[in-house]
Amino acid sequence: MKRNLNLNKVKVSRQTEIAPGVFVLSFPRPWDFSAGQVLGIGTHATDEARLYSIASGELDDEVDVLYSINPGGKLTPWLSKIVTGDNIWVSEPFGSFTGTDDPAWWIASGTGIAPFSAMFRSGLTAGKKLIHGGRDLNSFYFNKDFSGFFKEKYVRCCSRDSAEGIYDGRITKYLSELPQLPANEKYYLCGSAEMVVEVRDILIEKGIPFDNIISEIYF
Ligand SMILES: Cc1cc2nc3c(=O)[nH]c(=O)nc-3n(C[C@H](O)[C@H](O)[C@H](O)COP(=O)(O)OP(=O)(O)OC[C@H]3O[C@@H](n4cnc5c(N)ncnc54)[C@H](O)[C@@H]3O)c2cc1C
Repeated sequence: MKRNLNLNKVKVSRQTEIAPGVFVLSFPRPWDFSAGQVLGIGTHATDEARLYSIASGELDDEVDVLYSINPGGKLTPWLSKIVTGDNIWVSEPFGSFTGTDDPAWWIASGTGIAPFSAMFRSGLTAGKKLIHGGRDLNSFYFNKDFSGFFKEKYVRCCSRDSAEGIYDGRITKYLSELPQLPANEKYYLCGSAEMVVEVRDILIEKGIPFDNIISEIYF
């Protein structure tokens, strides 16, 4: 999608490859934001930015972005080569996929965990349950933080690998098998269009009102 965002130069503090082809990039926080919002990133001031959820907390000194390389893509192969002290161009934060203190289910696939990481790190954890889908055991980014805090309210659904304590199958299978879901809670969905659409259909089938389903699709 074409985006004409105002981009400003920031100096990258660090970049870490946390799983094969998956990076966390950090820069000093230049503005306030609400957990769950996104920003645009470009290779220069007049670039057509790609969008990324902020993965860090609202009060953290640095902004973290979690992304995976799209090998044929325009931005991410370039971004993955960035090292400490290099410049990237970022927009101000925006977006309405923001967390609240109310009980909710956070449902993510892959890097779609990023906005929930921001909500988690901003303290919006009361009454939350986190369901994270990933292909293999390396796909559960930030899982140590989540498992220590959420305990059994953090469910990892793995489609290709099996391991103790991890649900064997996709998020959609896990949700379909639950006998019932609370209709009065909010359901936040973030990740690929395929996951979001499939999960939304399951939730609606299980009696969740459409207004209680809030989605952020990565494309
Ligand atoms: C709301 C939102 C939040 C996202 N958050 C994350 C995240 O936290 N982590 C993550 O890994 N990914 C995220 N993405 C996906 C991310 O924006 C990129 O699509 C992805 O990183 C691939 O970028 P690329 O440039 O390497 O690949 P490319 O294939 O070059 O581009 C991928 C996408 O960029 C868009 N695009 C293509 N051409 C142009 C153009 N000329 N101008 C502007 N846009 C164009 C298209 O939507 C295309 O599908 C998010 C997407 C959205 C919509």
